Amino acid sequence: MGFFSDEVQQVLHEFEDTKKSLKEARSQLQEKLEELEKTNLQLEISKKELTKKVEDLNKSERAMLNVLEDARESEKKLSKEQDLTKAVISSMGEGLLVVDKEQKIILINQAASILLRWASGDAVGQNVHKVFTLCKNKEKEGEVCSLPIERVIKEPDVVNIGLGDDFYCRDKEGNAFPVMVIMASLMQGFLRGNVSGAVIIFKNITKEKSLDDAKTNFISVASHQLRTPLTSIRWFSEMLLDGDAGDLPEDQKHFVERIYQGADRMINLVNLLLQIARVEAGRVKIEPALIDLKLLTEGVSLTLHEQLNVKKQKINIISKPETLPKILLDEDVVWQIIQNLLSNAIRYSLENGIITVKLIVNKKNNELVFSVEDKGIGIPRVEQNRIFDKFYRADNAVKYAPEGSGLGLNLAKKLVEDWKGRIWFESEEGKGSTFYFTVPLEGVKPREGEVKLRV
Ligand code: ADP
Repeated sequence: MGFFSDEVQQVLHEFEDTKKSLKEARSQLQEKLEELEKTNLQLEISKKELTKKVEDLNKSERAMLNVLEDARESEKKLSKEQDLTKAVISSMGEGLLVVDKEQKIILINQAASILLRWASGDAVGQNVHKVFTLCKNKEKEGEVCSLPIERVIKEPDVVNIGLGDDFYCRDKEGNAFPVMVIMASLMQGFLRGNVSGAVIIFKNITKEKSLDDAKTNFISVASHQLRTPLTSIRWFSEMLLDGDAGDLPEDQKHFVERIYQGADRMINLVNLLLQIARVEAGRVKIEPALIDLKLLTEGVSLTLHEQLNVKKQKINIISKPETLPKILLDEDVVWQIIQNLLSNAIRYSLENGIITVKLIVNKKNNELVFSVEDKGIGIPRVEQNRIFDKFYRADNAVKYAPEGSGLGLNLAKKLVEDWKGRIWFESEEGKGSTFYFTVPLEGVKPREGEVKLRV
């Protein structure tokens, strides 16, 4: 019995041990299982994340492909546009030069290269003044006018040289041809207003020039031919009015008065045309004499007293200093300019108005600034840039004073610019206008010519 119970005891022990180790093994297994489950869960999460990433990558790839396609499209478009720009530049009839801030040529088109006789490879990199030389006189070979290129390189600006400015360009071999030039600032970052150089567009205007010369000649000859019969009409109608052929009945007198006024207006028009033709053809003789501009202005206003009386207007003349230095000027020329400005001020201002003439010496600029101010109808803003054009009359002026030719200011501008002066105005419609011009204090130089300005 003792033996058995020992054995049983042992078996029971062993059994207990086995049970314990089984329990341990089971709990380890349980732990492992839990770990496995955890790992499985993590794997599951990672799988999901990976699948999402793959999806995102696919999406990105598709987007990239789209962007690439767009970029290729844009590149194609850009190269097409570049081709078009190149084609436009090279097939332009006008010469084109592009210069950098240092005034070196960075682009020259085919037309410019042909007109200037400079191979494009040689011209690029050269200073623009060497390749593109302008002069005022085609006969004098050495004479060169400086290009106002600094002006358009410094700040945004445009300079126009037109047919009326009479400029010539010299090619590499020294041959001169008449030109029209537009010079503009080359802008980089348009909104920032950074000037990075200049663009010069020019055109050979030999044909236009000869047409213009023919027109000037025609006007000159026609005006000349018209003057004689017109003067006779005015002369004889004046005689009739004076009763040289006996007293006229009232109604006939009225008709003759109309004939006289018409002939007088036509003579004024023809005279202006003739004067412009003379100035444009460079035929006017300049004979400077020492002139007191204040005295001369008083003289002009005396000749206008009839018009002043009709409109009950007055002219006030102010000068600074009180006594002006005498200036060497051609009397016919200044007279004409002052007369045009004063008669405009009278014609385009209301009754009882006061016209103020100021003559101010500006020692700093070595010039005298002459101004005529009226409180008349003014010039509409939209028409202001055309006021110096030949035959141009603003709408309000045509309505207010139908008679007028639109030639007076054109002539005045030509005469002032001939002595390198400036002429301009400030005006507001309905409030009045002030016209200004400058006279160099050192005066003008004499010039040989076929005729005087006065006709
Ligand atoms: P005209 O006076 O014969 O028409 P002008 O050449 O002298 O020709 O002047 C051209 C135009 O300029 C005028 O028709 C008018 O529209 C305008 N103008 C000139 N001076 C004045 C002024 N003082 N006030 C208003 N408009 C003016």
